[in-house]
Amino acid sequence: MKIASLDLKRQYKSIQKEIDSAVLDVLASQSFVLGHYVESFEKSMANYCGAKYAIGVASGTDALLLALMACGIKSGDEVITTPFTFFATAGSIARLGALPVFVDIDPVTYNIDVNKIASVANKNTKALLPVHLFGQCAEMDTILEIARDKGLHVIEDAAQAIGALYKGKQAGTMGDIGCFSFYPSKNLGAYGDGGLVTANDDRLAALVKSLRVHGSVTRYYHEYVGINSRLDALQAVILNTKLKYLNEWSEKRRTVAAYYDEQLRETPVRLPKIMNCNTHIYHQYMIATPKRDLLKEHLSRHGIETVIYYPVPLHLQKCFEYLGYKPGDLPVSEKAANEVLAMPIFPEITREEQDYVVEQIKNFFFRK
Ligand SMILES: *Cc1c(COP(=O)(O)O)cnc(C)c1O
Repeated sequence: MKIASLDLKRQYKSIQKEIDSAVLDVLASQSFVLGHYVESFEKSMANYCGAKYAIGVASGTDALLLALMACGIKSGDEVITTPFTFFATAGSIARLGALPVFVDIDPVTYNIDVNKIASVANKNTKALLPVHLFGQCAEMDTILEIARDKGLHVIEDAAQAIGALYKGKQAGTMGDIGCFSFYPSKNLGAYGDGGLVTANDDRLAALVKSLRVHGSVTRYYHEYVGINSRLDALQAVILNTKLKYLNEWSEKRRTVAAYYDEQLRETPVRLPKIMNCNTHIYHQYMIATPKRDLLKEHLSRHGIETVIYYPVPLHLQKCFEYLGYKPGDLPVSEKAANEVLAMPIFPEITREEQDYVVEQIKNFFFRK
């Protein structure tokens, strides 16, 4: 049997008529960038998240960059974040000349270890940038408390966590700004690149809105030096169509995860754990084992595609050598990078396919 880590064709087939007709509408209108299709999606997203503002942008990376710009992050400022995340989280900080300051992660949730934040904060610290990794929220109460205490901005990287809840609150709506990605493999995926910023604060929202169109409010009059980062209408109608199904898809992912949990309990792999206060959306289902590389190879030989998120923690990336971190500095992240493996998970995966994945994992550990 061949099992892809993610099969997007099944989802497209299930909603093809709706998607195709929405795309044809945009083609007929010849209105491609921002405009009413984008505004309508922004409204849906603001509603979905329960945020006052939702602002469509060109990618999740740009959402982070614009959020940091709106918070006034500039050269020499420090932003505290996690090293165990996709590169964009820290890349966007560095792009502004600011310094990413990495704090090690919690070994159970893989999210930033909130007990280690306060000790690295100093007079240059301007913001906290937690990531809700794999679809589970970071410990926001403590993060918000530290931020309040020290007068810091909080920007949530919710790229992997759309629809995830922390104490009943939506990911991306608890800090000053929330950042979302619609990269095709995300739980709400576009058919190309796309991203979105959420905010409740009038001033920050207005800034992001202006910064995405080169810092202008009135066309050709520029108050700030912004960037070109707009969501296009084709992506907006596709996303608006898919958003109606998102909760149903998240529920299916939870069912898939529960089945893996149950079937893998007797194996030596560490399973994902959820904090009691969280509702997980299982963007990824991560297992962990010191035998990770051999297991991955075994699964691959039997047609099962798995992915390592992430093989190199950001503090050890070549491009961040100038920050001065060395191996051993953030041991929990380094261990995770050596041991985690993402299992195939998507709403349409079948029981038979899951059974086969489980069988092959059991074969690896128990039958040699
Ligand atoms: C995907 C992702 C991003 C970047 O999103 P793009 O749309 O690919 O630019 C940022 N942070 C995290 C945690 C992500 O998973």
